[in-house]
Formats: sequence, structure tokens, C-alpha cells
Amino acid sequence: MGKVTGFMEYERIEEGYKPIPERLKHYKEFTIALDDKAAQVQGARCMDCGIPFCTSGCPVNNIIPDFNDLVYRQDWQDAFTVLDSTNNFPEFTGRICPAPCEAACTLNVNNEPVGIKSIERAIVDRAWANGWVKPRVAATKTGKMVAVVGSGPAGMAAAQQLARAGHDVTLFEKNDRLGGLLRYGIPDFKMEKQLIDRRVEQMKAEGVRVRTGVMVGKLPEGSKVTNWAKEAISPEQLQKDFDAVLLTGGAEQSRDLPVPGRNLDGIHFAMEFLPQQNKVNAGDKFKGQLRADGKHVIVIGGGDTGSDCVGTSNRHGAANVVQFELMAQPPEQENKPLTWPYWPYKLRTSSSHEEGCEREFAIATKEFIGEKGKVTGLKTVRVEWKDGKMIEVPGSEQLLKADLVLLAMGFVSPVATVLEGFGVDKDARGNAKATTEAASAYATNVRKVFAAGDMRRGQSLVVWAIREGRQAARAVDEFLMGTSELPR
Ligand SMILES: Cc1cc2nc3c(=O)[nH]c(=O)nc-3n(C[C@H](O)[C@H](O)[C@H](O)COP(=O)(O)OP(=O)(O)OC[C@H]3O[C@@H](n4cnc5c(N)ncnc54)[C@H](O)[C@@H]3O)c2cc1C
Ligand code: SF4
Repeated sequence: MGKVTGFMEYERIEEGYKPIPERLKHYKEFTIALDDKAAQVQGARCMDCGIPFCTSGCPVNNIIPDFNDLVYRQDWQDAFTVLDSTNNFPEFTGRICPAPCEAACTLNVNNEPVGIKSIERAIVDRAWANGWVKPRVAATKTGKMVAVVGSGPAGMAAAQQLARAGHDVTLFEKNDRLGGLLRYGIPDFKMEKQLIDRRVEQMKAEGVRVRTGVMVGKLPEGSKVTNWAKEAISPEQLQKDFDAVLLTGGAEQSRDLPVPGRNLDGIHFAMEFLPQQNKVNAGDKFKGQLRADGKHVIVIGGGDTGSDCVGTSNRHGAANVVQFELMAQPPEQENKPLTWPYWPYKLRTSSSHEEGCEREFAIATKEFIGEKGKVTGLKTVRVEWKDGKMIEVPGSEQLLKADLVLLAMGFVSPVATVLEGFGVDKDARGNAKATTEAASAYATNVRKVFAAGDMRRGQSLVVWAIREGRQAARAVDEFLMGTSELPR
């Protein structure tokens, strides 16, 4: 373990942030990572618990006590070997994971979990800086061809694992660049995109063939999905050309708010707004970019996507930003005995919230108001929740000014046409129907077609997508070879 008495001697240290006025001027990351000494102290705090709840709380089951100990001993290269054995992309999760491992850490019983996420980031950033992250080219090729459709974290993890198992992998992506929501959802200030580019280079060196701008199947009529595809390939063609197909197309169908006035100008899905800024950051010319400069912005939806809209609007120079959440304000402190080691229900304040945002809870939008076809405000009402039902509070109606409204209420399901094109059954929520049970893990009803990530489990997290990509790769490998040495 780290230092035997470390958990009593040292306090948790959080990563710092650059000052707000400075970071609002750009779209670059602004987290100040732990230096070696601070990371060592965090590692020293780990108690090497008999039951490491951190490891079971982590969806990729990172072997956390081991790398904590190695960092305490300053054996960074071995720490990276341990981390790399369970997570293809720790530099992504080390930046943007909500860290369920820390919620599960035994020291979180006292609200002082080990800073696991900051240690993860310190290890992998050092590994890249020291050239320890190298392509791992398969020693022998199997001659089997696998198509992976969708290049988010699930597709990237799966493609990398399958290539390492010796298969000929082609990764299809309808957008112009790889990365899925890492590339065109999550803002650069949370995760810079060169981190994806260097992983893409690693994957290519490992033999993954990349085809961007290629839509597999068709987009539905009038789809609002951001789409830069230049060519299409049919599901039939893919099934003909490949020995196995893995669908990792995400859950791209945004939840709408069909109240009166929805068709006014100035009301947009978050996923129309956020990708454009990421494209501009990447140096692309974008005609008529949706911008928040000088505007009264209302973001509807209290989650991560909404928070990203807040951060981006403030960087544009919005006059003010208000974020709505339908649910009541959660408590500042969770009910620990009831929740630990599980993910707690509590108020979460992101760095984007700290940059400037009014947060309104228990509020519903009744109508969008406009003039000359443009949104000018929202009619709202306060709500209460009784026995799981939402009740409007009489007399609580308000009119709020808005000239840009961003809808960030989550994602309903994958875009149906992709699944329908393959004849894949859907579950009750419209996701690809496939279980994670060992006998037929990630397999859909269609022979040799598998599904993983948000496309299978519904809107989720990057770390879950990586887990599913890794596990689905093993399932595909087993299907093709009868056995697999890829990690579970
Ligand atoms: C704005 C925003 C912020 C978020 N922030 C966080 C965060 O901070 N931390 C976190 O853990 N999670 C976050 N998430 C969630 C996280 O990004 C997703 O859970 C994760 O990216 C899902 O990975 P995936 O690989 O399953 O799908 P995606 O990342 O959605 O990737 C799917 C890819 O498939 C492509 N595709 C779809 N259909 C086709 C087709 N027919 N042909 C070719 N290509 C296709 C898409 O273009 C896309 O590139 C956020 C999500 C959003 C929207
Ligand atoms: S639960 Fe916390 S203290 Fe225990 S092994 Fe994991 S990181 Fe260390």
C-alpha cells in the first residue's frame, strides 16, 4: 500500500483551475494538474483496502490501489502499465470522468476520497511525455475483417482492442473527424482534441483503417443530427464485406421540448450549438455559427451537456446565462450511510457554473414567446414533485427574457435508421437490444452484428463507453476465433 499512516497524515488535494477571467478568454483546458509531489502524497493516502470499493466503482475496473502505491513509490512507468491494462484512454477519463471511483473510495465516508482521477491523469500525461505510449502491433494477423461503425470512445476502444487481437479493422465515422462526442460534444476547455488525434495515430499504427465522412445507412428525413458525411455505405454492403460488424453509433436523438413557440428562431439543440464551436476551434470555417454574444441565454437541462452550453456561452460573451432544471435542487451533502459506495445524489457545481450562471431548479417551460419569428422569452412555472409526479405550483408563472435558448435535456435513443438498416431489434427505450450476458455478450438478433456504448446502453458516460467497447471487442473476437485472450 501507499504510506501506512498516509490517510491520517495527509489531506485530499484537488486539482486547481486557472482564474476565471483568464480562462474565459479561450477554449483551452484550464485545469492545473497535480505535480509529482502532490500526486505522491495522494498515492500515499490510499489504504489498499481489503475490498477496494474504488475498483468496483470504476466501470473499467482500474486497479486503483496498485497504481496509487506505485505513484507513492514514484515508479511511474509501472503505474502506467497497470493503468493501461484496464483503460485504453486514461487521458480522456482522467479529464472528464465524474469519477465514480472516488465516490466509492472508503475515504469518501469522511468526504476525503483519494484523488484517484488526478492521479490517473498525472500517470498518463507523464507516460505520453516520456514516450511510453507506443503502438502495440499484433504479432500475427487472423485474416478476419471487422467493421466498427461510430468512432466515439466505445468504437475507438473496440477498434483498438480488435486490431491488437490481429483482426483487420475498419472504423467508419460519418463526421469529418474521429472521436464521437469527445470530439464534437465535449468542449475543448474540458478536453483538448489533440488528445484524440494522437490516439488515432496510435490506432492507425496498430493497423486500424479509418474512414471518416462515411455514413453507414441513411439519416432520417429532417434529422437534426449534425452530419458532415460525404458518402454513404449500406448495411448490406458492410455485412457482405466484413466477418463481423460492431455498431457503436451513440445515442444521438436529442430530447425535444414540444411546447407552443418551439419553432421560433433562436431555439436550438445543444448538439447544434456545441459542435460548431469545436469545429471553429479546430480551425474550420463555419458560416453562420450559432453564437451567444451579448445574448440572454437560457439553457434548458441541468446535466453535463447543459453545463457545457453554459461554459461555451460565457466564452462567447453572453449577456447572462440561466440554466433550468426540472427537478428540485439536490442536497449539498448526500446521505452518506444510505448511498456510499454508490454514486450519490447531491448538488454538483461544475467549473462552467462557477464561471457565471444562475441556476433555477424545479422550473418548467410552458411556452416560448417571440416577436417577428424570433424567441424573446419563456413562460415558466414552478413545479413540485409529489409521489414521483410533477405538480405545477399555482400562481408561480413567470416570463423570462431570452434571445437564445439551448435545449440540453438529454438524448432519447440512437438514430433509429441505423439500427433499422441492419434489422437490429430495439429495446423499450429504442436502443440496440443486446445484453452483456457472457453467452451472447453484445450480440444483437442479427448474425455477426454486435452493439456497444451509448447505442446499446443509452446516454451514459465516456468510461462506460470504453468499458463496453473493450468488452464488445472480446465478444467479437470470441465469435470470430472461438476463444479470446482480450481482457474482459
Ligand atoms: C455535450 C456532452 C458532454 C458530455 N460530457 C461528458 C463528460 O464530461 N464526461 C463523460 O463521461 N461523459 C460525457 N458525456 C457523455 C459521453 O460523451 C458519451 O456517453 C460517450 O461519448 C458515448 O460514447 P459512444 O462511443 O457510445 O458514442 P458517441 O461518442 O456518441 O459516438 C458515436 C459516433 O458514431 C457516429 N455515428 C453514428 N451513426 C453513424 C453511422 N450511421 N455511420 C457512421 N458513423 C455513425 C457518430 O457520428 C459519433 O461520432 C457528454 C455528452 C455530451 C453530449
Ligand atoms: S477505496 Fe480508496 S483508500 Fe481504499 S484502496 Fe481504493 S483508493 Fe485506496
